[in-house]
Amino acid sequence: MAAEATADAMELPAREGMDYDVVVVGGGPAGLAAAIRLKQINPDLSVVVVEKGSEVGAHILSGAVIDPVGLDKLLPEWRNDPDRPLKQEVTDDRFYFLGHSGALRLPNFGMPKLMNNHGNFIGSLGNVAKWMAAQAEALGVEIYPGFAAAEVLYGEKGEVLGIATGDMGIARDGTITDRFTRGMELRGKYTLFAEGARGSLTKQLIARFKLDEGKEPPKFGIGLKEIWQVKPENHKPGLVQHSFGWPLKMDTGGGSFLYHADGGLVYVGFVVHLNYSNPTLSPFDEFQRFKQHPLVRPVLEGGKRLSYGARAITEGGYQSVPKLTFPGGALIGCAAGFVNVPRIKGSHNAILSGMLAAEHVAEAIADARANDEPRAYELAWRSSAIGQDLYKVRNVKPLWSKFGTIGGVLLGGIDMWTNELFKFSLFGTLKHGKPDYATLKPLSEVTPITYPKPDGVISFDKLSSVFISNTNHEEDQPVHLTLKDPSVPIAKNLPVYGEPARLYCPAGVYEVTYADAAAKTDPKFVINAQNCVHCKTCDIKDPAQNINWVTPEGGGGPNYPGM
Ligand SMILES: Cc1cc2nc3c(=O)[nH]c(=O)nc-3n(C[C@H](O)[C@H](O)[C@H](O)COP(=O)(O)OP(=O)(O)OC[C@H]3O[C@@H](n4cnc5c(N)ncnc54)[C@H](O)[C@@H]3O)c2cc1C
Ligand code: SF4
Repeated sequence: MAAEATADAMELPAREGMDYDVVVVGGGPAGLAAAIRLKQINPDLSVVVVEKGSEVGAHILSGAVIDPVGLDKLLPEWRNDPDRPLKQEVTDDRFYFLGHSGALRLPNFGMPKLMNNHGNFIGSLGNVAKWMAAQAEALGVEIYPGFAAAEVLYGEKGEVLGIATGDMGIARDGTITDRFTRGMELRGKYTLFAEGARGSLTKQLIARFKLDEGKEPPKFGIGLKEIWQVKPENHKPGLVQHSFGWPLKMDTGGGSFLYHADGGLVYVGFVVHLNYSNPTLSPFDEFQRFKQHPLVRPVLEGGKRLSYGARAITEGGYQSVPKLTFPGGALIGCAAGFVNVPRIKGSHNAILSGMLAAEHVAEAIADARANDEPRAYELAWRSSAIGQDLYKVRNVKPLWSKFGTIGGVLLGGIDMWTNELFKFSLFGTLKHGKPDYATLKPLSEVTPITYPKPDGVISFDKLSSVFISNTNHEEDQPVHLTLKDPSVPIAKNLPVYGEPARLYCPAGVYEVTYADAAAKTDPKFVINAQNCVHCKTCDIKDPAQNINWVTPEGGGGPNYPGM
């Protein structure tokens, strides 16, 4: 092969293909639950799961306080397994409203029952996924970590036939290298997309099949998390603590979590709703500042930060769930957006939706159908446990967006109570308003936010944080943060918003550099793609919707240990 020929320009060898009954994209709780359920229903079905992380769980980031309702239904014996990934039950559940230096504890009796965490488990969702993968493999599911589904395969009638994994060994400039390996075609009677929040193929499917027609826009938050090994005297196994308020301004939605897991570990994290309006806001720095609060700092002091990561979380809920089915496949888990926002929980619905889709797909295959629309799944979810879980809390996020933190949380609380007690909402079903990319105000209309310097003890900078996310990409590959129009960051985003990608990206991927920094001459937009932790925030928040996140080479990205 000519070294200078680009992959686009030259004819690549044909891809090899493999046929399955069901192809699953994404080895998270949704995808693995679907794979397990399919094999439970019919052990003869052939099922394959592709996962872009170097191993299952490597790209999963979650709180996590896990409602076991999904696992109980999928694998009822899980509690008897000595190697089960969830051992620490919640023992104490606290909610706080934070001010700059004080904290007001909200009484538990004021919380609707659905907010109660007793009976839930604190653990790593990455470890849950690893354990589920072992269960799936024992049932005969084929799992291929290190392979990103890069392309959807369509048939003559436009039906989904499967996916193709990405080619490996294409250089940054598009030429073919010695490492070149062609991707594989994995074809299925049905393909289930379980890519999690803002899936790159899911985004294409939603647009192609107009799955969002008549729905509210999807909404998201960015969640940042660190794992700390704390001093034994600071560790209260089973304590779950949530807060809202400081350091965010009252017009910005978000809040914190602090979970005391087993093994002396504390999971501390912060979520910022991505409909924030001030382009000078940096979710990463809000998180670092939050850790300095007198309620939090003493817990971490004397401990060691072990890991860091970030990931988008879906927040649109009931009214934003797109149509789930299309010819040849379906969306499951957070690809569809099944997070219960006030509970900050989605993993139970991810498992339940994987199971529900699997049951309908298995039935379709038993009826000798293939590559048509598994519509029964779409028709079933609203009356299922998932629909019931999301319906009750459907107004919490829109109320927060409309009335700010104090008014929104208060009204959201009242709304959850009336839904719980009377199955009734004073508000009907509220709309979300603008999509997250359209909420930024120009720099000229905001007061710039300044952040304190990290102290290197409790708060840190981005680069040292990305270092402990163990993020790694093959450097010589095309940049996977693609720009539809390369001129937009400097020509439009910089003058109007100060190019907010520099700030909302939690991994320091985006920079604006200048020939003369003091005089700010000749600005250039730099993309340090190798730092990307696959959170998808840029794909969601870029005000021009100019950044399109595509899969890098499989296996690249963070290598989270037990996130
Ligand atoms: C900060 C934060 C805190 C949270 N806290 C909680 C909590 O306490 N409790 C709770 O229940 N839920 C919580 N959630 C939500 C929960 O994490 C999600 O609901 C859950 O992870 C959804 O599962 P999933 O399988 O749909 O997607 P994911 O868990 O995101 O898994 C998707 C998988 O697909 C892979 N993938 C994606 N695209 C491709 C591709 N093209 N090719 C191959 N592989 C691909 C990914 O690498 C990943 O492994 C939290 C989320 C965040 C961000
Ligand atoms: S480049 Fe985008 S997806 Fe990657 S870490 Fe930054 S914001 Fe997240």
